[in-house]
Amino acid sequence: MIAELISVGTELLMGQILNTNVQYLSQKMQEFGVDVYHQSVVGDNMARMVESIETACSRADIIILSGGLGPTEDDITKEAVAKHLKKPMVLHQPSADAIVAYFAKTGRKTTENNFRQAEFPEGAQILPNGCGTAPGCICFDGKSHLIVLPGPPHELKAMFESGVVPFLSTHMEKRICSRMLRIFGIGESFVAHELKDLIEGQTNPTIAPYAALSEVSLRVTASCPLEEDGRALIDPVVEKIRERLGDRLYSTEGESMAEVCVRILKQAEATVSVAESLTGGMVSSELVSVPGASEVLLESIVAYGIPAKLRLGVSEETLKKNGAVSPQVAAEMAKCIRERTGSTYGIATTGVAGPGPNAEGVPAGTSYVGIAAEGLTHSFYVRTSGFRNRVRTSVTLNALDALRRAVLNLQLPK
Ligand code: AMP
Ligand code: MG
Repeated sequence: MIAELISVGTELLMGQILNTNVQYLSQKMQEFGVDVYHQSVVGDNMARMVESIETACSRADIIILSGGLGPTEDDITKEAVAKHLKKPMVLHQPSADAIVAYFAKTGRKTTENNFRQAEFPEGAQILPNGCGTAPGCICFDGKSHLIVLPGPPHELKAMFESGVVPFLSTHMEKRICSRMLRIFGIGESFVAHELKDLIEGQTNPTIAPYAALSEVSLRVTASCPLEEDGRALIDPVVEKIRERLGDRLYSTEGESMAEVCVRILKQAEATVSVAESLTGGMVSSELVSVPGASEVLLESIVAYGIPAKLRLGVSEETLKKNGAVSPQVAAEMAKCIRERTGSTYGIATTGVAGPGPNAEGVPAGTSYVGIAAEGLTHSFYVRTSGFRNRVRTSVTLNALDALRRAVLNLQLPK
């Protein structure tokens, strides 16, 4: 099945807003195994819009249009679809009633032009809008389906889930199932080398590597008539990958490192506190971004300068003897934050974000992570390079990975 995406709006052509809808829709089409060969953007102009629709219908089974469903004169997407279909626009009474109710609820009066949002090409299947006033619709021209969705991204996403997913599920012969595997501690080329035979030998499922900063992801994708069959095809391949990559594979469900940390801490009924120098709050920010973080994160401090490290409890002697950027200070910071807060685990970061060396002459990119638990005080060197935030991101992931390893009793980096 081939789909084509048409984004409607002069503001898109003028670069006033970023076309995030097309990115979302393209990802969704990929997920459903629908091929997208063309995407286009067209302004709020009838002749050009009809021309775009005509071209798209000549080469695709599904055309998804977004935008131009507002109440104003320049919102003409549905009219353009009606022109293509050679059908009149007709009022859909339930949509008109829903619009009146929506305005009444928000204390406003419906104006005449709002009812334009309740008019659709004759014969259209209406997609109700749970988040706004403009319903969408699905039309059929005898060969292609035309799906019309609202422009505001949150409305488009909600309508995609409630209206388009059921449509696709009934029109697709095959389902695409995939699992996202996330790996930390080895580079993309190493992963590709370790899994060379699997990646090259598999056709269903396929294995596709993606590299991000300090991480590698693998998407394992199967195509089959039923979702359950997909899972049965994917699971043995995931197990083979796990055998090869061991504990460097930290999630087989696409979770982020912070999500894994929060989940396993909860399962272990354990808590963590964080003392951050170089990362400046990034480790705790990552944890806090996960729902339920409050159950596991007790306290986080940014102990950036020497006085803050002293206040935390790091000894003057340790700081003087080894410098602020040292394995000894990282370990002591982790130990101090754990003891002060009574958490199960303490993690800490210290390092030089760059671009130049620090006052003590330690070169940029030199970083240490500290971790403390009952009977454990450990720290390790993290090799990083690049700009400040790249260094911070990399050290953050290393700190969270150390936490994961400590909680799961896995080997910690030396
Ligand atoms: P419209 O339905 O064309 O009046 O669009 C309503 C609003 O939706 C616009 O003002 C934008 O903020 C947003 N919007 C429309 N199309 C897109 C798009 N392709 N990507 C992101 N936002 C969009
Ligand atoms: Mg518009």
